Amino acid sequence: MNVHNLDCIFKPERIALVGVSTNPNSVGGKVLTNLVGSGFRGVVYPVNPRHEAVMAMSCFPDLESLPRRPDLAVICTPAAEVAGLVGACGAAGIPGIIIMSSGFREIGAEGRRREDEILAQRARFPQMRIIGPNCLGVIVPELKLNVSFAPHTPRKGHIAFISQSGALGTSVLDWAQEENIGFSAFVSIGNTIDVDYGHLIDYFGDDENTRSILLYIESLADPRKFMTASRSFARSKPIIVYKAGRFPESAAVAASHTGALAAEDDVYNAAFRRSGLARVFDIGEIFDCAELIARNKVPKGSRLAIVTNAGGPGVMATDALMAANGRLARLSEQTVADLDEQLPPQWSRGNPVDVLGDARSKRLARAVRIVAADKGVDAVLVILTPQAMTNPTRAAAAIAEIQQEIRKPILASWLGGHLMRDGVDLLNESGIPTYKTPEQAVRAFMTLVEYARNLETLYETPRDIPVEFSLDRKKIKQEFRQGLRPEERVLSEVQSKQLLSSYGIPVTLPVFAADEADALEAARTIGYPVVFKIHSPDITHKSDVGGVVLDIRDERQAADAYHAIMRSARERQPGAHIEGVTVQQMALMADARELILGIKKDAVFGTVILVGAGGVTAELFADRSLGFPPLNERLARRMLEDLRIWPLLRGYRGKSPVNLDRLIEAMIRLSYLAADSPEILELDINPLLAGPEGILAVDARMVVDPSVTVNPSEPYAHLALRPYPEEYVSEMMEMDGLQVRFRPIRPEDEPMWMEMLASCSRESIYSRFRYFFQWASHEVATRYCYIDYHREIAIVAETTNEKGEKRLIGVGRLIADPEHETVEYAILIIDEFQNRDLGGLLTDYCIDIARKWGLKKVVAQTTADNHRMLALFKKRGFAIHTDSRTSTVDVEKTL
Ligand code: ADP
Ligand code: MG
Repeated sequence: MNVHNLDCIFKPERIALVGVSTNPNSVGGKVLTNLVGSGFRGVVYPVNPRHEAVMAMSCFPDLESLPRRPDLAVICTPAAEVAGLVGACGAAGIPGIIIMSSGFREIGAEGRRREDEILAQRARFPQMRIIGPNCLGVIVPELKLNVSFAPHTPRKGHIAFISQSGALGTSVLDWAQEENIGFSAFVSIGNTIDVDYGHLIDYFGDDENTRSILLYIESLADPRKFMTASRSFARSKPIIVYKAGRFPESAAVAASHTGALAAEDDVYNAAFRRSGLARVFDIGEIFDCAELIARNKVPKGSRLAIVTNAGGPGVMATDALMAANGRLARLSEQTVADLDEQLPPQWSRGNPVDVLGDARSKRLARAVRIVAADKGVDAVLVILTPQAMTNPTRAAAAIAEIQQEIRKPILASWLGGHLMRDGVDLLNESGIPTYKTPEQAVRAFMTLVEYARNLETLYETPRDIPVEFSLDRKKIKQEFRQGLRPEERVLSEVQSKQLLSSYGIPVTLPVFAADEADALEAARTIGYPVVFKIHSPDITHKSDVGGVVLDIRDERQAADAYHAIMRSARERQPGAHIEGVTVQQMALMADARELILGIKKDAVFGTVILVGAGGVTAELFADRSLGFPPLNERLARRMLEDLRIWPLLRGYRGKSPVNLDRLIEAMIRLSYLAADSPEILELDINPLLAGPEGILAVDARMVVDPSVTVNPSEPYAHLALRPYPEEYVSEMMEMDGLQVRFRPIRPEDEPMWMEMLASCSRESIYSRFRYFFQWASHEVATRYCYIDYHREIAIVAETTNEKGEKRLIGVGRLIADPEHETVEYAILIIDEFQNRDLGGLLTDYCIDIARKWGLKKVVAQTTADNHRMLALFKKRGFAIHTDSRTSTVDVEKTL
């Protein structure tokens, strides 16, 4: 969708208010009052067949009788009438609709049916955009546009606030009013039958008046669109998210640890991370972060320095920092020496820097300046308590001055009541966020740290086929699928480990033994020491029934173990069908830590990877992190770094570190297994032993859904993020003495993409974009370089010269319609290469991809005077239609 379509909703000139009633306290009445009373400059047409006038404005009986066509219709009628009105709006050519009425899916089946009726109407008018139903409306303070029943129009500002909950939306607006915070827009999105978060992020991402985007999310309808949109804007426009429903009352019962551990909220969290968002857990924190982030005051790391005039609050802040996994900055010797010069001898001589109760504001300011200059400090928290010698207002002024000079963020906590008020106001006016308690300050700081880290991994797009794996993934996949039996959902340790092993993950392969003699024989073949485990389709947690015996050293112990297992299992789970035992090598790994590594298919975000502290206590400590497959090294490492046990993995108090390379490799391999296997619902390696030498999976279990089918043109439909399509990277070609390669564009190509456009003539740019395209901004560039490889793919022609320097000399782009039938093609070749074969070769390459995507038709546009392009399309059998009025030429070809 072209997001500019949303202008009809956010920049309307004429608005029809449908269902407006004479009662000023009804929804329609309030909306009318707000619209008229806020100073909106456009035209409002009240529509109601039953009244001549509402609130002294004359009414129109229906949409047909309006003197001019509105851009926006606001519907506040009873739910049953809405679908019919949407159809009428479409027929009247009204492009934008806000449905404020409630009585839809929130009330159940009947409401859902009404939504379906609206969608059926909507389908007749492709240009139409709908917000709602069941929403509170839209406010654009800049235009004095208040289409809502919020009590007042918020201030003008630069935050776009998109809220799922209407009620929460209004209370935040109310609160923002008091805090002097302004908005570029407020949107209550309601049930999102059409316009969703993804569209709005796209729209406000492009909106010049918006500097940051704030989301209040309860659930997401289209997580893929959401992630793509967020990721393409997160770097240039901070997106801050507050998500409700952190603690689901009932955790779904799952068959494996991974299933139980990966609660829905964790998956959201992982998605926010991966999309470069800042997540806050406290409404109050939203705006503190929005301010800081939008002013580009984002810490480079997590090392916080605390400067205070009292010991106690410094300790409180330190505690809070430690609890949140933060780091107290270690001051350099130079910093300590500089502070020694400025502070009385009894100062704390470390971080937190206690400048002592008798400090005047000058002393405090000097200390802050010195500390902020330390390279080992990423941000400074200044805590002031009321003291006879300190003037809090003057101190605030001094700190504000420092913040003007430096890029590192300063946070402030002026503890106390009215004495502090002027100082706090002054700090806020200077853009320094203030917090009522040091703990709150620390929390906000950690949110920023997390945000900064999320940005770092934002553009990681792992490859579809990592070259370093010499796996025949296709073959393994086929064999695995063929091995699945329709009635079998829980796969045994043997089956699960076989699959893991085929992906190159080291396992202790178990051998099945139906009776004691078999078991002893297997043990002899494998070699002692061995492990026996109960083998039964009915027993998932084997040690719970006494079904695991470790470290069996000889035949006698083996025989005992066999009987012990049988006896115990029969006793503790009498009904279970026991097939025998499995025998495997006993892993003797010194210094091993037990981890859990798994796959889980989430209902909203698709397949995710989980890693965490494992063993029998996995659930107890719930220390885990999630990631989206496929992973690359950085992403896998980031998952590990987020664990509380990370220090243990890196080596702790004399324990040697685990072999991180091997561990990360196993995670990456598992992520490719996950990407290849949409039929896996859960996979659980618990434990994965990780030691200094390497890693080993000693237990595994898997739940599959054999009925899952894969559409060959969409093999990654079960993933929230599509891998980089390595299969479209061409071989090197020789062209006029240059090495040329065609490959899909990457986010990292942005600088080269900009250079390419800079070297094009105005004519070339015009003939590609059909207007004088303003490309020279990061915002625009990301839109073109950062794509989802699903509906859109851009193939660049990249040359490498003798020195190995790379350059883009052309790009062909395919954008499919949502139904995946027709695809638009456009091509840009830099001027110096236009007379060669490049355009033709690139076009053939792209058309070939369109075919592989299963698209039916390619369309393109050019101008009548662009003979070169016309010849190119003619030669490839395109049908050519010239509009003689505009000299535009539309070409199309059925595939
Ligand atoms: P379950 O999780 O079904 O109870 P496991 O196969 O995980 O059973 O075994 C329980 C524990 O025994 C594991 O957490 C691990 O500590 C240990 N263990 C299992 N298999 C081996 C093995 N091959 N070598 C060493 N230790 C093992
Ligand atoms: Mg286990």
